[in-house]
Amino acid sequence: MQKKLYKLLYPRRCPGCDKLLEPDQKVLCARCDDLVKRTGEVVCVTCGKPLKNETRDLCPDCRKGHNFVAGRALFVYDGPMKEAMYRLKYDNRRCYARNFAVEAKKTYAGLMRAWGIECVVPIPMFAPKERKRGYNQARVLAQNIAEEFGLPVADLLERVEDTPPMKGLSPFDRRSNVKKAFHMKESEVQFNRILVVDDIFTTGATMDAVAEVLMSHGVQAVYALYVCIGEGS
Ligand SMILES: [Zn+2]
Ligand SMILES: [Zn+2]
Repeated sequence: MQKKLYKLLYPRRCPGCDKLLEPDQKVLCARCDDLVKRTGEVVCVTCGKPLKNETRDLCPDCRKGHNFVAGRALFVYDGPMKEAMYRLKYDNRRCYARNFAVEAKKTYAGLMRAWGIECVVPIPMFAPKERKRGYNQARVLAQNIAEEFGLPVADLLERVEDTPPMKGLSPFDRRSNVKKAFHMKESEVQFNRILVVDDIFTTGATMDAVAEVLMSHGVQAVYALYVCIGEGS
């Protein structure tokens, strides 16, 4: 009942333009639905980045391999999704997470079953930063995605260092930047196949660091889902 009331009081907004959606629109308004780029069929088999060259399996970033098995994105980080990601992160538009979870279920229900996902883990935010912002958008996304797929959320990790923004760093610097940033909160994990959720994927340095920590605590396979990803080559 409380949930119904919540949905009545807080109708869905379009993440692309922030306008209120019609009751039959669950993800984006018609205009933004035309403007956004979904990742589509031809993607890097590892990170899910759309590939311009259809004869390749992997994008250049993934040729060296990753600690996570595979990841997929919903949208290309471009056009209205750039604004959407900004508002989700900095403008308290946590409500968009619900739309993205619906899109995730629509697009990746089969894949999620094939991956055998047992629980959803958010990329943690450095605690003082989260207190200042009031929320961690990755956790809000993880909660909504878990609910949509009927999976539990496992808040297994904490971020012990505030890493400088990754923007403008080389892939090598990005890796060393996040290498020691994550710790396990619990010493034992009862899940083998985990889905890690984040808002934007760039080179995968953060996802690799998180996967490494999870696997060193006995997790067998780490998969990833993010709302947005850049375009590949
Ligand atoms: Zn819109
Ligand atoms: Zn890739």
